[in-house]
Order: sequence, then C-alpha cells, then structure tokens
Amino acid sequence: MCGIVGYIGQQQAAPILLDGLSKLEYRGYDSAGICVASDGALKVAKAKGRLANLSSLIDGGKAVEGTVGIGHTRWATHGAPSDTNSHPHVAAEGRIAVVHNGIIENYLKLREMLSRRGKTFRSETDTEVIANLVEYYYDKSKDMLDAVRKAVARMEGSYAVAILCVDQPDIMIAVKKDSPLIFGFGEGENFVASDVPAILRYTRKVCYLNDGDMVVFTKDHADFYDSLGDKVVRQAETVDWDLSAAEKGGYDHFMIKEIHEQPKAIRGTISPRIKDGEVVLDDIHLTKDYLSQLRRVYVVACGSAYYVGCLAKYILEKTCRLPVEPVLASEFRYSEPVLGEDTLVIIISQSGETADTLAALKEAKRCGARTLAIVNVVGSAIAKAADDLIYTWAGPEIAVATTKAFSTQLSVIYLLALYISRLLGTLPRQEYNAILHELEHLDQKVALCITDDNLSKLRYYAEQYYKVHDAFFIGRNVDSAVCLEGSLKLKEIAYIHSEAYAAGELKHGPISLIEEGTLVVAVATVAELFDKTMSNVKEVKARGADVFGVTTERFADEIKKTVSSVVTVPETHPLLQPSLSIIPLQLLAYYIALMRNCDIDKPRNLAKSVTVE
Ligand code: GLU
Repeated sequence: MCGIVGYIGQQQAAPILLDGLSKLEYRGYDSAGICVASDGALKVAKAKGRLANLSSLIDGGKAVEGTVGIGHTRWATHGAPSDTNSHPHVAAEGRIAVVHNGIIENYLKLREMLSRRGKTFRSETDTEVIANLVEYYYDKSKDMLDAVRKAVARMEGSYAVAILCVDQPDIMIAVKKDSPLIFGFGEGENFVASDVPAILRYTRKVCYLNDGDMVVFTKDHADFYDSLGDKVVRQAETVDWDLSAAEKGGYDHFMIKEIHEQPKAIRGTISPRIKDGEVVLDDIHLTKDYLSQLRRVYVVACGSAYYVGCLAKYILEKTCRLPVEPVLASEFRYSEPVLGEDTLVIIISQSGETADTLAALKEAKRCGARTLAIVNVVGSAIAKAADDLIYTWAGPEIAVATTKAFSTQLSVIYLLALYISRLLGTLPRQEYNAILHELEHLDQKVALCITDDNLSKLRYYAEQYYKVHDAFFIGRNVDSAVCLEGSLKLKEIAYIHSEAYAAGELKHGPISLIEEGTLVVAVATVAELFDKTMSNVKEVKARGADVFGVTTERFADEIKKTVSSVVTVPETHPLLQPSLSIIPLQLLAYYIALMRNCDIDKPRNLAKSVTVE
C-alpha cells in the first residue's frame, strides 16, 4: 500500500533508496527501512516513524555501503508500526531479504507450515512469510528464480515485492499482483518502484508491470516473465509528467485519484474476508451467545463515518433484526447513553485517532459495553483500545474529504451484517447468498460508476450547477443516508450551502427554502419507494427547483418523465446500493469544486484527522 524502491547500479544504493522513498512520502507511511546487499551480507536498517529517523540512523545513507538495495515505506496492515515490523524482512537463516506492499491473505497458514519446518519469525507481519517461503525453497534448489516462482505460487492476496538473495547480490527479483509496481530502465543501472516519482530523477523510461509479472534484473539487463512464467518483452514508456503530477498518478487531485481507487480499495476490504461462500472475520470474537443477548447496537462516529453509521442502521436492522442507533461521537460521550453488557458499540474512524470518537469508546467501555472498532490506520489509538477490531485496509487516504475510507467502512458494515446474521440465523440462506454474491462483485459495479462516459456527464452537470447558492439532497431509506454524505461532500470541498433531508420530511419545513434555481439532488434507488420520492421531486419542481436525479438503470426511463438531468448507476442488492449511488455524488462535488477553483485536497478550515475535541 505504500512505497517500494529497488536499485542495482554503480552508485551507492542507500542514498538513492532514501531519496526515492522521500518521493513516496505523499502516500503516507508509519515506518521505513532499507537493505543493501554487499560483502556477502544483507545490511538492514529500519526505523519507526518519519523517514528522517531512518536517514539520521544511517547518516543519509553514507553508513551503508553497497550498490544493490531495496527500500520501503510501510503502511502497517498486519502488526502495529514498530522497528521490528518495518520492512525489509530477512528470512530466518539470513539469506533472503524482502520488501512488500499489500496483504498476504493466507499468511497464517503459510506461517504455520513454515514454523513446522523449522523457520522462525520475528515480526507480526504477513510479509515475513514471503521471506521465509522464498528461503525455504531456495534452501532446496539454490536457484533464486525457481524459489521465488514456487513461493509466489503459494501466496494469495495482493503484493508488490522486491527480493534480494545474499548469495547473488548482483540480481534482484520483483513480482506483483494487485499492488502497483513499475520497472525503471537506466544506463548501467536499473530500478523498481511502486510509483514513478521515486525514480523520476534517475530515469523517465519506465514500464508498468502487469499483474503476475516477474522481473529478474541486474544493472545491465532485465528479463520479464508473465503470469504463466513465459518470457515476455516489456516496452519502456517515457514519462512526461512533472513530479507533482506524478505523485497524483497523473490526476489533478488526490481526491479524484482516490475516487478512482475505490474499486480496488473495496476489493481489498472484502475479498480476504470471504472464504468458501462465508464471511470470515478472524479478528473478532463475537459469539452466538453474546449476540443473542444483545438488546441494542450503537454506531458511534463523526462526519462521513457517522453517515456510514446511518447506513448501518438500515443494513444491520434489516439483516440482523437488532435495534441500531447511530450517534455522533461528540454527543454520545456526554449523553449518558444506556449501556451495559447487552449493548454493542461499533466505533468507526478512518484515522483511529479522532478525539471525540476515542473518548466515546472509552465511555462505552467504562459503562461495560463491548466495543468493536472499524479503523483504517493500523495500531492507532482506537484500534488499540477496542475489544474487537476490523481494519478497512483502504490504504492511506491523502485528500481531506474522504471517499475510499467511507466506501471501505461501508463494505465492513456489509461484512458484519452477513457475519452477525449468520450467527443469529436471521437471514434465510438464499438471501445471505444473494447479498454475498453481490458483495463479491461490488468492486466491479463501483468501477462501472467511474467510466469516462460518467465522468464527462458529471462534469457537464457540474457546469450547469456550479454557481448555485443552495442545494438540497433528498432520498428515502438508504438513499436518505447517502444524501447526507453527498451533501457533506459538496459543502466541504465546494463551499456551497447544502442540506440533506429524508425526502418525506421536506414538506415539514425545509420546502419553504426552495425557490427558483435551488439545486435539488434526488437519489431514488429504492424500488418500493421510487414513486414516493418522485412525488417529492414534483413538489420541489413545482416551486422552481432545478433537479438532478440519481437512480438505477432499471428506473432510467421512469425518472426521465419527471427529471431531465439524470445519472444512472448499475443495480445491485438494495442494501448494497449506497456503495454505487454515492459515486456520482462524490464526482458531482468534485467537479463543482473544480469549477469554483476550490482547494480540493485541502479545503479551508478542515483537517484530515481531528484530534481535538
Ligand atoms: N502487509 C504488510 C505489513 O503490514 C505490508 C504493508 C504495506 O503495504 O506497507 O507489513
């Protein structure tokens, strides 16, 4: 998820690795490390925290001599940020060193298998199994390529990996699947990196490796192999971006980059947790007995995470038949909530450091309730304090306005809904399977919401609306909660006054604010309530509102009878629909903010992680 750099050449490797890693800092990380192969040894230096810590440990690289090396910035997924868990990881006998981005889903099984065969482990990471697995096969054949191939065949999950072997210090092997990795062609030197900025200073000739690709290279030569192990030719492309565009992968802003990353992030959250037709949440310990005696579930969070809580109410109540109450963390902590052993408190926070949410968690624990945290940042305060924990594994989010953290938190709610309903027996098997099936394909359907065609449509609508002063988002059932998040996106990045209302609530007050040219965004995906929402749309149209509609393909023709500006999303299980309907709202806010020349990634007055009350 974070950064890899690999170098083979004639210059000292360590300063180049440090420099490359510094160009990947924008991706976020919690620790860093390098390994240089020379004089028959693998020299490793690593340090928790900023890259500067590592740099001063090795005197800017001068203290580690050698011309071949690998470097890494880690965004912890398995095991808290610490010196020991930092990469590179060296195998038990010290012959193989590895840096890795991604998640090895079957690492526990591999770790057990390797332990039985005498391999020892020092860290809590999934990555260390890669080092030991390669070494295990290398011990037998003394052939590095063969060992890496055999190891890769056993690895499930996502990975970009660079590998060094003490016996062959002039060769590096890199391999990737579902995590980015590029190869950089130099003169008398070659590179691998997880992103272009890391090597842009040294070469502009790069090749984006395909999934399953392996590259075996020296300073003068590179052999590429595809996923079938066949030798292939990979052509170099010339990068013509500058550094700041390269950091954003060619996008103008991190926000739009992260919007595009959502399918992958959702897949990363969901796919490791579905095994053989069941949701498997290894990290949590909610038993059937405990769940059966529950009387209430609170979902406590702030901002967008709170809106995930609002969606969780619909999703968990429907699937688990438990009363669910979303509460803002800042209110929860001072409201003397009714808590006890029969209450489960679900805590949601991207950073895991949100001050209000952390305080709410402590209050819940003090009152004897069990707490379950949904967090992105591994080893964060909330992750440490909660009784149970599910990581979203969304990777670092840089834009202040959340998109992929929201989407992955919601994905965890779906997983939890299936998991709890299975233990409680509250969903017929057929319904469980139907939701699970859609969940397995959710990432693909989200990707269909981000097609070029949809982007240009939303850009077009943004052009129509970017001058409005007021906007209202209306919808019913899950759509009303999606509206809360869509409306927040618009106000936080485009600075437009915006409110979200359950569509049926409008006539109880807010409709008095509708006048000629007010923008109303109507989300209408819930089939049984479609006509009712359309009635509300007619009410606002009659008062001069300009209506923009979001619905499913099924209702595309129907909605056009009432609304002329429409974007459709694919259809999925009704409970999962919010993951699709939120995408056009994120894009609408983004393009409107763009046209209003707003500072999209760093909106005024806002911070990414709110660590004050
Ligand atoms: N899963 C690995 C770990 O937790 C790699 C994390 C990363 O991509 O930085 O160490």
